Amino acid sequence: MPPLIATTIPDCRAAIHTAKSAGQRVGLVPTMGALHAGHLSLIERARAETGFVVVSIFVNPTQFGPKEDLSRYPRPFERDVELCSQAGVDLILNPTPETMYGYDFKTYVEIHDLQNVLCGASRSGHFRGVATVVLKLFNIVQPDIAFFGQKDAQQALLLSRMVRDLNVPVEMAICPIVREPDGLAMSSRNVYLNASERTSAPVLFRVLSALRYAVVAGERDVAALIGQTTALIAATPHMRIDYIAVVDCDTLTPLTLVHGNVLVALAVFVGATRLIDNIMLVV
Ligand code: AMP
Repeated sequence: MPPLIATTIPDCRAAIHTAKSAGQRVGLVPTMGALHAGHLSLIERARAETGFVVVSIFVNPTQFGPKEDLSRYPRPFERDVELCSQAGVDLILNPTPETMYGYDFKTYVEIHDLQNVLCGASRSGHFRGVATVVLKLFNIVQPDIAFFGQKDAQQALLLSRMVRDLNVPVEMAICPIVREPDGLAMSSRNVYLNASERTSAPVLFRVLSALRYAVVAGERDVAALIGQTTALIAATPHMRIDYIAVVDCDTLTPLTLVHGNVLVALAVFVGATRLIDNIMLVV
């Protein structure tokens, strides 16, 4: 059965009400569309854990800065519907910006401290937009479980914190990063890369893997690890580093020595395209 497509909130709520009345648990996979195998892994897990799978497809304007790629973000909606259909999605929520924000929107969710570091340092207001839209999606869909990717590690952490701090009755499921065969983390933005940039891009995962090996081999000094990583990236064509960070997994506080549960995260411009990737270490 092809998925239902709801563009309005009442239509979405009616479909969810029917599913819940039939005793089904509802899973939500929030996306901005241009679906790829990373998104499909979230959908697959939602199918395994819930009876009624909702995928939201919404390119959320409030999480884009004025100089970012909102207008050119890929929107292959027909293809997304086909992929959702093949993946067994029950409902696609595809609202317009007007439906989500009306004409006089004034309420935003802020997650202090955590929202201003790493990606938040160079994308001012980004996580405020993410948290606001996700809380709205939670209120519209009222899922039992929501599925997010570890690809966006800071986002997953912030949203988990929001759920905890605001007592949102949703279980958070964070799913592993899906990669291309050469290691490049799948992303809807990979289509922006030209052939030469695409050839360079897997270096991001290679440097993260090299950093992991260095830690396994005994290196604990974060400055040395970041120095080696920076040098490897700088030696690759098209790369301009936004940040490389070695931080505590829960607080995102920078570490000087690698210990405990550690997130190694980076954002690098490959040509004009900003890509992110990360690994977790337990030391
Ligand atoms: P996006 O459409 O980029 O906003 O992503 C929607 C969801 O898919 C987010 O929870 C992302 O973390 C997740 N996601 C994106 N890329 C990947 C990937 N390569 N592996 C796993 N999850 C991903």
